[in-house]
Amino acid sequence: MILVTGGAGYIGAHTNKALNQAGYETVVVDNLSKGYENFVKWGHFENYDFGSKDLREVFEKYDIDGVLHFGAFSSVAESVELPQKYFKNNYKNTINLLQIMREFGVNKFILSSTAAVYGNPEKVPITEDQELKPINPYGHSKFITEKALEREAAKGDFNYVALRYFNAAGCDFDCEIGELHEPETHLIPLVLDAAIGRRDSISIFGTDYNTPDGTCVRDYIHVNDLAKAHIDAYEYLCNENESNVFNLGNGKGFSVKEIIDMVKKVTGKEFAVKLDERREGDPDILIADATKIKDKLGWTPQYDLETIVESAWNWHKKIYQD
Ligand code: UDP
Repeated sequence: MILVTGGAGYIGAHTNKALNQAGYETVVVDNLSKGYENFVKWGHFENYDFGSKDLREVFEKYDIDGVLHFGAFSSVAESVELPQKYFKNNYKNTINLLQIMREFGVNKFILSSTAAVYGNPEKVPITEDQELKPINPYGHSKFITEKALEREAAKGDFNYVALRYFNAAGCDFDCEIGELHEPETHLIPLVLDAAIGRRDSISIFGTDYNTPDGTCVRDYIHVNDLAKAHIDAYEYLCNENESNVFNLGNGKGFSVKEIIDMVKKVTGKEFAVKLDERREGDPDILIADATKIKDKLGWTPQYDLETIVESAWNWHKKIYQD
């Protein structure tokens, strides 16, 4: 049985579905602070906080072989406003989970890490060996969590994979689950909100970045490609007695303006675009070099930007139009 923390949230729910479709048994642990119970359509569900000592009850009830840890707060902007909230949930509560795993002899762990651990990278595409210099509390909270895992693995009888996601986007092709944050801060769903008429306009945060068109460049990766990478990483932990860190991205960068153009193309809708101030904590360019995971695990992303936006648009229409 695989324990999936945060399995009622966006990436956790997509991975939970993929795990069940691949024949794994799962138990989702989520306190529903951000997740949705109706996103847990596969496996068991337990409403617990992974930072609580009571989490032991889940380890007593189920025969857990490994943990996929999605439970975390993930808004860069909020982390700048409320840094301690991020250090407590993303770092301290993960330590609680690791302690309980040790107690129950569960020794396989996959962390949802982030490209935000790199800060403003020295060169792009970014390889895993670049120095980690996060520039916002969200990135910092994941950086220290990776360090805690390194220490835990050094103690022996424990292996982990940290997956450094670039920009997760897109939704389940069956529209059974999707991206739904409250409040929404991510670019693609916000632009889709403008396309569907839920907001009057979309604001571009900063037009003077050191990029070809002046707007931030990011590497958008379909959530199902991320989900598949977790299964590959879990199988790697089952077969090899080692830990590792991998970037997860498409290896291609798109600017905020290019994303807006793609949404207009896919949806056929016109909407107002405002040029706004920079948002604090945003690096200019984040693009993954995902060679390492391709070489080591044989994982390759399947979906391009147009497919990402189409799948997100289908989900958006389902929840806001149907
Ligand atoms: N962004 C924007 N307008 C918005 C939301 C986001 O211009 O309404 C920009 C943001 O500044 C960043 C990029 O879009 O450069 C991606 O932001 P998102 O929050 O989706 O992901 P992040 O890169 O912060 O994880």
